[in-house]
Amino acid sequence: MSIHDKVSAVLEATPKGLLINGEWRDASDGGTFDVENPATGEILATLASATEEDSHAAMDAAANAQESWARTSTRERSEILRRAFDLVQEHKEDLALLMTLEMGKPLKEARGEVVYGGEFLRWFSEEAVRHYGRYASTPEGNLKMFVSHKPVGPCLLITPWNFPLAMATRKVAPAVAAGCTMILKPARLTPLTSQLFAKLMIEAGIPAGVLNVVSSKSASNVSDPIMADPRLRKVSFTGSTPVGKQLMKTATDHVLRTSMELGGNGPFIVFEDADLDKAVEGAMAAKMRNMGEACTAANRFLVHESVAEEFSQKFAAKLKALKPGNGLDEDSTVGPMVEKKALDSVNEFVQDALEKGASAVVGGKPVDGPGYFFEPTLLTGVSEECRVFQEEIFGPVAPMTTFTDEDDAVRLANMTEYGLASYVFTEDISRALRIGERIEYGLLGLNVGVISNAAAPFGGVKESGVGREGGAEGIAEYTTVQYMGMPSPWA
Ligand code: NAD
Repeated sequence: MSIHDKVSAVLEATPKGLLINGEWRDASDGGTFDVENPATGEILATLASATEEDSHAAMDAAANAQESWARTSTRERSEILRRAFDLVQEHKEDLALLMTLEMGKPLKEARGEVVYGGEFLRWFSEEAVRHYGRYASTPEGNLKMFVSHKPVGPCLLITPWNFPLAMATRKVAPAVAAGCTMILKPARLTPLTSQLFAKLMIEAGIPAGVLNVVSSKSASNVSDPIMADPRLRKVSFTGSTPVGKQLMKTATDHVLRTSMELGGNGPFIVFEDADLDKAVEGAMAAKMRNMGEACTAANRFLVHESVAEEFSQKFAAKLKALKPGNGLDEDSTVGPMVEKKALDSVNEFVQDALEKGASAVVGGKPVDGPGYFFEPTLLTGVSEECRVFQEEIFGPVAPMTTFTDEDDAVRLANMTEYGLASYVFTEDISRALRIGERIEYGLLGLNVGVISNAAAPFGGVKESGVGREGGAEGIAEYTTVQYMGMPSPWA
């Protein structure tokens, strides 16, 4: 089958409606919105756009399904997730194609995301049956204590556009494992992957009302009425820090449980004793994965002054060898920015740095032609006043600053309100551990540029968020603890 035929087939197979109470429906007002391909500007599909009325219907469905869903055995929930994992593997190419089409990442990376995203289904299918409580005695011996984990209840799950499958599975899988019902609101720019994923969840056996999907051209049309509904018990959000803060404020009205996976400004520290080839390899992964459109992206390269020249030359050579192009072309290694606004923003960051005295060793401007491409860029001589140093870039731009000693490196690394991912390259194990103690980040890669894994607790500190996704911690975000006491038989 030609790539053109494969694209037509997967777009045809992807549901275009809202998933409410197990049925795919049109929006209550018949409204729709278009999904665009950022590599070409073409419209890929037109989807139903949820209204306030649809949001109420999704909330009703989730609330009505909650009690019976919570009573299902953990084995049953586990097996649904395991079947979903198998289906995602079976449809690996379809899901990868959709992600490349709607988000722009190269197919090879999109296939990598199917593997990474799918693993949350397998991991939480395994965790579902092992999230034990405890049976114990009070110290006085008068009471027996039963401590159990109960599902939190109906959840609103809001996902960003940059990892369309993994950000959905990282929330849906633990919510299913814990016995919560849910309303998933995918990002307006990349809803197609979630639509196909939801279809696979139905095939895997998820009952009506447990998973509802409400894509919309207006996020607040969906989130406002749902957040105002006292039946909602939790909001889990992945996205920008400003929107996360807003949702946290709204969540106080009903004292909702919240999980917030927000923005980052990751430091990538290279010490004078680092293996520079390994560091450059790590830098390419930490910076260029997803075109730099990752919350975990290395945002600031902090390099010891004695190795800065050699590191920048090696890094620049690798960046220069990259090939921007349509992700469907197997040769291209860098996709477009997700939309025109994102391209303009990256360009403004670079211009600001150049005006403040930085130099572009490689790249530095948008690529001519259709689509929203930006050249892979290395900036040296970046000062602390530059926006690239202070804000999340979300593009293929690597700003470099030098430091003099360990204290200086730690000072620069922690000089931000964010605290998600960080990276350190050194061959000195004691130094690596010291940095681990002193650095204010939820995630630290030691001599490695990508550390995300379904089995690891992922999340930030400071304004990068609260809560953890993945690992044993991931399911606890969707459960609440209940203690029951009764007289001890010996009392
Ligand atoms: P965004 O905040 O603009 O949007 C995220 C989601 O929130 C989308 O579904 C969007 O439609 C929705 N949204 C927007 N405004 C809303 C509102 N007022 N009420 C309710 N929902 C609203 O973020 P984005 O541009 O999609 O994603 C990029 C950001 O996400 C970056 O800051 C990145 O660091 C962050 N991110 C964080 C993680 C993490 O795990 N910490 C992972 C991926 C992305």
